[in-house]
Amino acid sequence: MNTVAKGPEFVVARAEGVWLWDESGDRFLDGTSSLWYCNVGHGRTEIADAVHRQMSTLDAYTVYNDFANVPAIELSERLAAHAPVVDPRVILTSGGGESIDTAAKLARRYWYALGRPDKTHLISRTAGYHGLNGFGTSMIGMDRFRTGFGEMVRDTSVVPHNSAAAVEEEILRVGPENVAAFFAEPVIGAGGVYLPERDYFTEVARICHQYDVLFVVDSVICGFARLGNWFGIERFGVSPDMIVFAKGVSSGYLPLGGVVVNGRVADPFWNQEGNPFVHGTTYAGHPTCCAAAMANLDILEREDLFTVSLEVERHLDSALRGLEAHPLVEEIRSGVGVMGAVELTEEALTERGITTAEVFAETRARGVIVRPIPKALLVSPPLVVTWEQIDHLASTLYGALDAVA
Ligand code: PLP
Repeated sequence: MNTVAKGPEFVVARAEGVWLWDESGDRFLDGTSSLWYCNVGHGRTEIADAVHRQMSTLDAYTVYNDFANVPAIELSERLAAHAPVVDPRVILTSGGGESIDTAAKLARRYWYALGRPDKTHLISRTAGYHGLNGFGTSMIGMDRFRTGFGEMVRDTSVVPHNSAAAVEEEILRVGPENVAAFFAEPVIGAGGVYLPERDYFTEVARICHQYDVLFVVDSVICGFARLGNWFGIERFGVSPDMIVFAKGVSSGYLPLGGVVVNGRVADPFWNQEGNPFVHGTTYAGHPTCCAAAMANLDILEREDLFTVSLEVERHLDSALRGLEAHPLVEEIRSGVGVMGAVELTEEALTERGITTAEVFAETRARGVIVRPIPKALLVSPPLVVTWEQIDHLASTLYGALDAVA
């Protein structure tokens, strides 16, 4: 509110590929894919055409009870075919936070259906971000997002993101008979690009299995080729009980998200009369949003952005490593996925009072968009970015750091 009140706003007028333009016609490199979502780049007319065609045929009609529509069916089948979960079912929503609420409620409702209503506790991780709906706000691993709202969802707790042992300790502290699910991003995104430790996911999958705790992966950022595959978690060779997705599924052209649920979790509701999972939203399975997602997935497959992404990942990693030598830089985190964090030193942030907001402003003034969080600048360009554009991004960031130093 305060930013808007202070003005002037940065009005984005147009976008094409990795570029966007403001109202006065100045051009900026979109180093963040807007908010981590524009995987195929901006201005894809084939998505616009698919949206136009769908909207002219069936604009919208809510998917509930036995109501369905062709794009929702096709999209669900396509996602299920690629999801690394056993016997998958797909629930569609309008975004990430809504999907987190869906997964969290389903986890609790699953144990209730199995006659274990005390299994309600949800464990998440430091620096983890799961959106700002009710459950997401309660599970977030950053206090500043949770402060001032009173107690929201009960029975949640946060464990250090870099320790599988901490997950087991927390399950034992709370009591396995009380724990419903564990939530984790394959690579932590918005909280600062934290890569998992070696064997982390194999270990937590084993622990969840051992204590009858559902393992929910939040692939909202990591999906749809950002990690070189469909849902991000394939990289670590484990099969979760649920996968939450959004963002890259439609590259953000229209809002869409959802949850892939494995057969075991769906089973109590799928096969039993009179035991519904009472949950849903007006825009679930919105046909025009699903048509946008289908056109987006066509592009990902046709241009093999899954493979391209792995090459971009390597180049981005080496370009960002070039910033390691800068005196203001503490650490670079990158190398898994087309994303990276440039963290500033404690000395720069506290003793010298340099803010990441200043670095962001300097970078934008030089025509590149990055994302500031309290201690770091984050980058996550569209997967169609070129080597030259990556180098431009890194050198512009270097220049901005020089300017504030
Ligand atoms: N989960 C993760 C990992 C995210 O990064 C985000 C958004 O950035 C969300 C959930 C929430 O998604 P939305 O903003 O669409 O509600």
